[in-house]
Amino acid sequence: MAATTPFILPEGNVQISLSGGRTSAYMLARIMDANPGAVQDESRVQVVFCNTGRERPETLDFVAEIGRRWQVPIVWIEFQQGAPGQRFRVVGRQGASLDGEPFRDLIFWRSFMPHATARFCTSELKVRPARDYLRSIGWDQWTAAVGFRADEAHRDGSTGVARERWTRWCPMIEAETTKRDVIAFWQDQPFDLGLSSDGRTPLGNCDGCMLKSERVLSALARDEPDRHAWWEDMERVLTERWWSLTPWARLRRIIASDQYKTVKDKTAPRLRAAYGRPIPKSVLLQVADRPRTMSFNKRVSRRAIREKVERQGDWIFSAEADDLGVLCQVDGGECIE
Ligand code: SF4
Repeated sequence: MAATTPFILPEGNVQISLSGGRTSAYMLARIMDANPGAVQDESRVQVVFCNTGRERPETLDFVAEIGRRWQVPIVWIEFQQGAPGQRFRVVGRQGASLDGEPFRDLIFWRSFMPHATARFCTSELKVRPARDYLRSIGWDQWTAAVGFRADEAHRDGSTGVARERWTRWCPMIEAETTKRDVIAFWQDQPFDLGLSSDGRTPLGNCDGCMLKSERVLSALARDEPDRHAWWEDMERVLTERWWSLTPWARLRRIIASDQYKTVKDKTAPRLRAAYGRPIPKSVLLQVADRPRTMSFNKRVSRRAIREKVERQGDWIFSAEADDLGVLCQVDGGECIE
């Protein structure tokens, strides 16, 4: 095993983020090895897991088992609507949402779907609830340990840079930890995350996350239609809710959510110019009444994915379909801040 030095806890309060995947759990194990007993001192260290409600039971069981076997207190947090600074609730394995309730509350509240280029679900369901919780226990400034490995260091743009109240710390990058180290570690453990992995864990994090490949999402539609249905329902319900609003209400939502910045065509300068002043009706109609379907992925809706699976069956998962590029293979990693 590599040197423990990069895993020595920095001074002050430290938040250790557990995503529910193997990598961040490995990081926790290494920090515990390097700092015997320190992680159990909750006045100094908080291990935080944020449940979105779309995690699989295997992920929740894995987090609970880590707490039990490693004798480490883990705080389970979920997003809930509330005043600024109070958008969290503390739950536990028993009280954890299993049907996407925090996620649904968030997207109804925002009236927009997160998608690959506006991934506000990570910040609203994980980063901010954890921050609000830590503030509620009196923390003012802290270090946040985040489980990026050395082979995915490109995902960390700000190690050591102070954010709003915390400084991000990625000890696995400094320790040059790779995917291989993580796999080897879990092969030696008496327990593991109950989800298959080929280096990636396609069933990890939110089951229908928009960062997953179309192949993974299509497999979800085929193999677990109930789980797929939640995502398809969210798209349908949010689209209906959007069109039930008046054009002015739609425009207010667009402006309030900063979506106007993403209106790329020639309407954008007019909308920006009008922002804060009475908005001409012509601009309103161009922006708020343009055809809009709420979907997690601008390229393909969940309904379209399901219909493709129903129409084409198992063929779309074949090597021939791969060669033809029938399903998009773009994929993301563990969802961590
Ligand atoms: S796993 Fe995906 S859908 Fe879930 S919070 Fe992270 S980015 Fe959003």
